[in-house]
This record gives sequence, C-alpha cells and structure tokens, in this order.
Amino acid sequence: MDLHFTTDVPTDAEREAVDAVLGADVASKDGLPRVVRQNRGTPERRSLLLPALHALQHREGWISPGGLNYISRRLGVPPAEVFGVATFYALFSVEKRPKTVVHVCDDVVCRVNGATEVALACRESIGPAHEENEGLMWIKSPCLGLCERAPAVLVQKAGKGRANEALAPATPEWVRASLDDQKIDMEPEPAVGPRNGRRLLARVGVVDPTSLDGYRALGGYAALRRAVDIGPALTIREIKDAKLLGRGGAAFPTGVKWEAVAQQPARPHYVVCNADESEPGTFKDRVVMEGDPFSLVEAMTIAGFAMAAEKGFIYLRGEYPLAKARLENAIAKAHARGFLGDNVMGAGFRFDLELRCGAGAYICGEETALFNSLEGRRGEPRSKPPFPVTHGLFGKPTGINNVETLVNVNVILGIGAPAYAALGTPGSTGTRLFCVSGHVEKPGTYEVECGTPLSKLLDLAGGMRPGRKIKAILLGGAAGGFIGPNELDLPLSFEAARERGVTLGSGVVAVFDQSVDLVDTLLRIARFFRDESCGQCVPCRVGTVRQEEALHRIAHKRTLGTVADELRLLDEISQVMKDASICGLGQTAASVVGSAVTRLKLFNGGAA
Ligand code: SF4
Repeated sequence: MDLHFTTDVPTDAEREAVDAVLGADVASKDGLPRVVRQNRGTPERRSLLLPALHALQHREGWISPGGLNYISRRLGVPPAEVFGVATFYALFSVEKRPKTVVHVCDDVVCRVNGATEVALACRESIGPAHEENEGLMWIKSPCLGLCERAPAVLVQKAGKGRANEALAPATPEWVRASLDDQKIDMEPEPAVGPRNGRRLLARVGVVDPTSLDGYRALGGYAALRRAVDIGPALTIREIKDAKLLGRGGAAFPTGVKWEAVAQQPARPHYVVCNADESEPGTFKDRVVMEGDPFSLVEAMTIAGFAMAAEKGFIYLRGEYPLAKARLENAIAKAHARGFLGDNVMGAGFRFDLELRCGAGAYICGEETALFNSLEGRRGEPRSKPPFPVTHGLFGKPTGINNVETLVNVNVILGIGAPAYAALGTPGSTGTRLFCVSGHVEKPGTYEVECGTPLSKLLDLAGGMRPGRKIKAILLGGAAGGFIGPNELDLPLSFEAARERGVTLGSGVVAVFDQSVDLVDTLLRIARFFRDESCGQCVPCRVGTVRQEEALHRIAHKRTLGTVADELRLLDEISQVMKDASICGLGQTAASVVGSAVTRLKLFNGGAA
C-alpha cells in the first residue's frame, strides 16, 4: 500500500520545528524529498511521533495538514495514522487555533474553589469559550493537578521562545499578565506539612531542585551507590523484603515485578516511569518532580540497574510545565556528571533516561495505553495478558512504576529493608503521600505512615476551614469513591481500605463541606469518564454515556419511571462496565456514583 499525501506542504517554521526533533531532512539523489517507505521506520523512530506533534503544536498552535504530511513522510507513518494519533490528544489541535489558549480547570476541586469566577472572567475578557478573539481562546479543562492551589489554569502558548504556564491560584490578574507574556514569579512554597517524619518529601521545599550538588549534599545518590555495592539481585531482594507495594492504585508488589523483568531472557529491557498523573484530585507526583527531581532520576537509574535495562523513559503528563523544566535540567546535569550515560558512577553499567510528554489524555495513565502513546500510537489500552514484564514497551520486558513508588526505592536502600518494613502496618509498609484538597485549612501533599487514621491526616491539613463541616470526602479520585463524615477513623492502609470497601487509589483526599452540591460533583465526574473513555470497547464507550444520561435525568427530575428505576439502571450499567470493560477506566467509571448511592444515600434522602 502506498502513502497518500495531500498536496499540502509545511511552512518553513513547521519544517524547522519538526527537524529539531527528527534531525535535518536529507534529500534523495534526485534532489526530491526523501520518502521513508511506509512502516519501514524502526519502532524507536516511530516513537518520535508524539514529540514531533508537540513541536508542531508548540510552534504554530495547531497541527496543519502540511505539517502533518511532513511528519508522516519523515517517519514513514501513513498520514491517516498520524491524523488518528494527533486527534486522540486534547492538547493537540488539527483545527486552526490561536497561539494562546487558556485551559480553565472546572474539575471537582477547582469548581468548589473559584473555577466559576475564573471562567466568568475569561468570558468577559476573551469572549465565549472555544471562540477565537484577537489571538486568544479559552476552554474548560479536566483536572490540571494543581488542586492544593485551586482554582487552576494552564496557559498553552505557541511560538518560538514561549512556554506553557500553569497558574494557581489563578486570579484574573495573573491570567491577564500571562496572556500579555509578562514574567510571572508565582511559585509558592510547596505545601508539604512539617518536616518531621518526611522521607519521600524530605528534600521538597528544602533543597534547590535545580542543583545536583544540593541534592548530593542532602544524601542524594547514596541509594544508587548502595545498589551498585550490593548488586542487582540484592537490590531487588531489598525491595521485596521491604514489602513495597505499588502506589499507583493496583498495589502490586514492586520487588516481584522487578524480579520478573530482570529474569526475562528477551532483550533489551526497559524501565518506564508513569508520571502521567491525571486522576482528578491528584498532584503528589508533581510536587515530588518539581521539588526533588533528582530523586526520581536516581530511582530510575536504580530501577534500570536492577532490571538490566539500559534505557528508561519518564512519561510526564503534558500539563506540568514546571516539572518538565525541572526534570529536563536534572537529566541533563546527571548526564554531564556521569550519573547517567555509558558508565554510570564509574560502576561499569549504562543507563540513559529520556523525558517524554503526554498531551492531555487521562487514559494514558493506564500502563499499556502509556506504552502505545510512547510508541507513537493512540493511547488505547492493550488486552492483558501478556503483561508488561514480558511484553511491554516495544514488545519487550518492561518495568513500569509511578513516581511515588520509585522514590520509595531510594528510601528503602537508604534505611534498609528491615527499617522500612517496620514503618506502617504489616500489610502496608512505609509511608504514603496523600493529596489533601478542598475545604480544609491547609490543602497540600502530606506524607504519613501507612495505617495512620484519616482524621489524623485531616488534622495535619489544619482541619476544616472555620465554620465548615464535612459533608463528604472523595477518596482515591474519580475512580475511587465517597465516604461520609462518620468514617474518619479509617486507617489509611491497603488492607483497611479493602476491608471497608473503599480504595486509596492515587492518594486523593478531597474534602467537601456542606455548601457543595454533590449531584453537580457526580455529573462532573460522569462527564469526565464519558470524555476520557478511549472508545475501544463497547461497555465503557456506551456505559459512560448512559451513566451520565441517567444522572442528568435524576438531577433534572425527568426520570424514566421512578428514581429507584434509574438507580437500578445505573447499577446494571455499573455491573456491565465492571465485568466487561478492557481496562481500569471502564471498570471503575461507576465507582463514585455507586458510593454516592450506597454510602451517602444521595438519592434516598441522604446528603445532596
Ligand atoms: Fe478504552 Fe474504556 Fe475500554 Fe479502557 S475500558 S479500553 S478506556 S473503552
């Protein structure tokens, strides 16, 4: 099959932007542009598709047909596939758009903390959402991961020398200043609670996150040194003895995963960091990456050493511009000083690390969707098995962990497995990071030993704002569930959560007071899942739509039959999505609704 290009050609600026990612274009012998034959590029080469699309989007503010053709020709990927990938991600546009687009978060935490006022201010100064006005546009966005400083805005800026900017708290004045490209210096002290007892966050707010020397002066790279001293097998033994469970939600034993990858005969092996933190209400990984980026680079290097991988990727969510800058700096400095590269720390092993950015797709937090995205494809989950430990990135054995899980490895190697295992509870060792947001006095990222009661965590966050009372707490994010104010004795451990029928998920603790309309919150979550379903399987694609429709009918008193009939329908939809969806998104898309019905009795005279 041949490639079928339209006649559209790239502008010089588009060509330059793409060449900066793919290297200079080389003409063929006859002087005509060289066409890479379809699908003849290597998988690694195709994996440059997302970076190339980012380059175009960033240069011009959209991906034009000419630019798309150029990428297609350079990578040997059919134009239809490039189009399919470009249209999958919310931060890319194949329609002409202005060079500055304001994304106003209207997700569950921001909408109870001033998002409506920010949206109104944008409407007044720019015009209706989605409409261009004098080179500007604004649109509503799902969670931007800045919930502790809500309300949040991401200003997406195209053009040479410009960079995206995340603003929180986003006042109309800050937004205006950003639109005028004024220099904004609004990085507040990270809200991470008292220093006492912090291990994963020990350096956040203390160290200069841009300084490798500063990092080393505070214990940085001691963990890698120890790993090198004891060797890969004993490093994995330490992780297993520490009983570290993955912090991404699935709670899989990390050491078991690492061992399985290390033992695979197929080569090469890869390690991947899932930094696509997109669960609404989650921001802890961002705080680590912004405040202590070298710790992630070190942990990835240990992972590579232990699993015999020479290459690692950090897949960062596209809405984190500061984390991106900090990680780029950390990786470059680690390279320059021999902490990455051909002979890491002079210890005779090779490890390289690349930062890749997502482009606004929640589903890419699912590990196999993330692999597809890294490989330059639509971020659609794969069926499992096979599992990533045997067939992960590029079909090779891959160890994938999220940021929090990885930085735990530094702590384990620092204090030793027995001391680590003594923290927390027998079934949930160590400490955990929780993203406390909403109507508490001091929203922020808090680190507590596993098993700490929820009430104590809320005390750390200063309790409720004066005069407010808890109406409900969203635990674990949009894929988690609500609990009521009568459940604050909940120990924050995997086993206690399981016993109580809740999940700690990604560590979200969003606290809502009596002023919050929980039906509105449910509708927002239902819309989120409808938007973010990748559409690959019917139960999720249709179920998320039907769920939202039923909730709207209940909310607007237009039920088909009685409310009880609608609740029965919702329950059936939930069951089908849980049983028959391919991935966790569909399997959990009805969890919050179910918890509102059963725990809060939302539609049966309970909290509304
Ligand atoms: Fe896609 Fe939803 Fe199916 Fe997951 S469950 S593969 S998100 S359609």
